[in-house]
Amino acid sequence: MSEALTEYQGKATMEKITSLAKRRGFVFQSSEIYGGQNGAWDYGPLGIELKNRIAQVWWKEMTQLHDDIVGLDAAILMHPRVWEASGHVENFTDPLVDCKQCKTRFRADMIPEENLKAKKCPDCGGELTDTRKFNLMFKTHIGPVEEAANTIYLRPETAQGIYVNYKNIIQSNRMKVPFGIAQIGKAFRNEIVTKNFIFRTCEFEQMEMQYFVKPGTDVEWFNEWKKRRWAYYEKLGVNMNQLRWHQHGPNELAHYAKDAYDIEYCFPMGWKELEGVHNRSNYDLTRHTEFSGKDLQYIDQDNKERYLPFIIETSAGLTRTLLMLLCDAYDEEKVADKGTDDDWRTVLRFHPAIAPITVAVLPLMKKDGLVELAQDIRGELKEDFATDYDQSGAIGRRYRRQDEAGTPFCITIDYESKDNGTVTLRFRDSMEQVRVNRRELAERLRKAIKEYQRS
Ligand code: ATP
Repeated sequence: MSEALTEYQGKATMEKITSLAKRRGFVFQSSEIYGGQNGAWDYGPLGIELKNRIAQVWWKEMTQLHDDIVGLDAAILMHPRVWEASGHVENFTDPLVDCKQCKTRFRADMIPEENLKAKKCPDCGGELTDTRKFNLMFKTHIGPVEEAANTIYLRPETAQGIYVNYKNIIQSNRMKVPFGIAQIGKAFRNEIVTKNFIFRTCEFEQMEMQYFVKPGTDVEWFNEWKKRRWAYYEKLGVNMNQLRWHQHGPNELAHYAKDAYDIEYCFPMGWKELEGVHNRSNYDLTRHTEFSGKDLQYIDQDNKERYLPFIIETSAGLTRTLLMLLCDAYDEEKVADKGTDDDWRTVLRFHPAIAPITVAVLPLMKKDGLVELAQDIRGELKEDFATDYDQSGAIGRRYRRQDEAGTPFCITIDYESKDNGTVTLRFRDSMEQVRVNRRELAERLRKAIKEYQRS
């Protein structure tokens, strides 16, 4: 492992990423024609492909590759008592201060200590209000009457859906401790500060896995899951020197946590949390037992004992991972020396397993049967790969467009293809081109995806 960076050293800036994301249809501002909606973003054609791919890779990692983890898709709307039991009604708050002069709103834990003490705005030096608690849960009403008895919350984390189903899953799927439940879904938080593009939004998606273990084995499992989650990012081809661990100090620990580490990524705006690995102890199950009156103990038939399992949680933001991968993949490379703009290419070096388009098929000319041949080849590849087709403009321009979308492979069809059935396969990262028989294409691509190493 290489040494961790002290500051961001990549070429991406949030401005470049935001603009590329819009230009290429990854992410648009929500309700843009009305001036935009704070804290909400829409995922365009490439964005939804990328998001789906990240979710698939995570899902495979968690469920397919772990015999002891099963999936769940719980509802966003849950019984309001869930959030009393979980502690969110009482504790899921951010400390808030406002500047009386410039009216900027801050999270008190995110401004320098000395400003808080002196009640001095870090932006304009104006006077700050007292700190007050602000609950991050979105509240609404279910049914036609807007009264307190009908209050319902949009879930602020997916985890609680797992806890309230854990007994159902043990019974229906005969799971034995230790085992895990994985879930991907939307979560909502009324965030006070929503800057930095899709980093912190009011509506976002989480990929969470809750692993149920016997008390006393929790520390061991906690360390094991830390190792596994680190290895997962290595497998995704992320620049590992842009990642680091951060352990929560006593003042940072959430109300449910016994121990907590974040995997942080060095984003263009600095080191920020990407995923949390938490030892939630038996806090949640204890509270749900209390509030629901149901016995949630696990009955270990083999050893004739019963207990409330401890829970190790791995909680990653799906949309935040997407931002991380955009930043991590972003590169500008000098590819010629003619003194023009074309000397440089912008390239997203996505791992082929997560790239929105895996392979683009490009006929060299729009005539002499090359289009038909290209469509035919695309038709063959479609079943197994996410393909794109582009016949407009000079071939160099078309390669650049695909580089910017992060497409790892391009296939060019030329006159020789008509004669002998070979095509040009171009690799995004090295720009190397090789001739391949069309019959061997699918196999060749599968191998290249499997053996991909980031250069
Ligand atoms: P923070 O302290 O930054 O508000 P947190 O510690 O409360 O975040 P967790 O509750 O641990 O975050 O959430 C788990 C993961 O969910 C985070 O690591 C992050 O990737 C993602 N996440 C949390 N809040 C948001 C948000 N508002 N927008 C996008 N992703 C989020």
